[in-house]
Amino acid sequence: MRLLVTGGAGFIGSHYVRTLLGPGYPGCENTRVTVLDLLTYAGNRGNIPAAHPLLEFVEGDVCDRSLLRELLPGHDAVVHFAAESHVDRSLDSADPFVRTNAGGTQTLMSACLEAGVERVVHVSTDEVYGSIARGSWTEASPLLPNSPYAASKAASDLLARSYHRSFGLDVSITRCTNNYGPYQHPEKLIPLFITNLLEGLELPLYGDGRNVRDWLHVDDHCRAIQLVLMRGSAGEVYNVGGGSEQSNLAVTGELLRLCGADRSLVRHVADRAGHDRRYSLDDTRIREELGYTPRVDFATGLAETVAWYHGHTDWWKEAKHRAR
Ligand code: NAD
Repeated sequence: MRLLVTGGAGFIGSHYVRTLLGPGYPGCENTRVTVLDLLTYAGNRGNIPAAHPLLEFVEGDVCDRSLLRELLPGHDAVVHFAAESHVDRSLDSADPFVRTNAGGTQTLMSACLEAGVERVVHVSTDEVYGSIARGSWTEASPLLPNSPYAASKAASDLLARSYHRSFGLDVSITRCTNNYGPYQHPEKLIPLFITNLLEGLELPLYGDGRNVRDWLHVDDHCRAIQLVLMRGSAGEVYNVGGGSEQSNLAVTGELLRLCGADRSLVRHVADRAGHDRRYSLDDTRIREELGYTPRVDFATGLAETVAWYHGHTDWWKEAKHRAR
């Protein structure tokens, strides 16, 4: 198989590519991978092997139709991770989110159709459903996004779906909960707090800290994507959960414990605009149809993640520097 991975130099995409080349996905040992990544502040070429016989890296934009026309022929499948991914940035300026997430996805779906790509997985998020006080969203729940980031991802999901419904493109959509693990950009909650603790800085906690997220280890998420790529149905959505709902306060407390720091470092800051209170997914479909189950329990995964940041100071210092 020949696979194109967009956004493969970012957090989740690079984990997927490293695992695939590992080789960590049975049956895909000889898969040739092309990574297409614009290397924005969030992308890092060093996140994937510098040289590998099965890997080709192309620096470029998913919004660039002529590049996609040149690149896609000969590829059997595409996994689409590329996106602007940080909610706070979308509150400052939504333009790049609409451009890349909505526009880039449409350009990519259209180019896949033109090139006769046989299988596409579009990676999305639970944030498209918005906040839920009790219970869990299923794949049939309405899309009620509350941030420009979530709205741009909802738009991308609907565009991907439309390329299946209108033109028969074989595309599945995954919607996962909050990921954590190594190589996550230190602008996101868990790595921000870990790296601040390593630097002796305060932890800026939004509002009362009682917002709840279901944490999913990046390795479990990527395994779910691989299952959907190999066995998912065209036009279907698959929710992917981690089975570990935690308030931001609880996560903060655990990080303080793991880093041997005390609560005096926590600084409550004004809440994020439109901050969703709770996300929760019902992921029965992927569990029952594709046999998915998360393997990494949160306590173990978080401790390993703290250890990884502890051992990769140059990586996260450079990422923080590049993002400024
Ligand atoms: P990330 O920000 O770490 O990586 C995004 C990558 O996309 C970067 O390498 C960046 O350079 C690249 N990119 C951005 N714009 C591009 C463009 N126009 N053309 C080509 N490449 C471009 O993001 P992530 O956390 O790895 O998220 C990957 C996907 O998973 C995204 O689609 C995101 O919406 C989704 N997702 C993430 C989470 C999470 O918790 N991180 C949760 C749910 C869904």
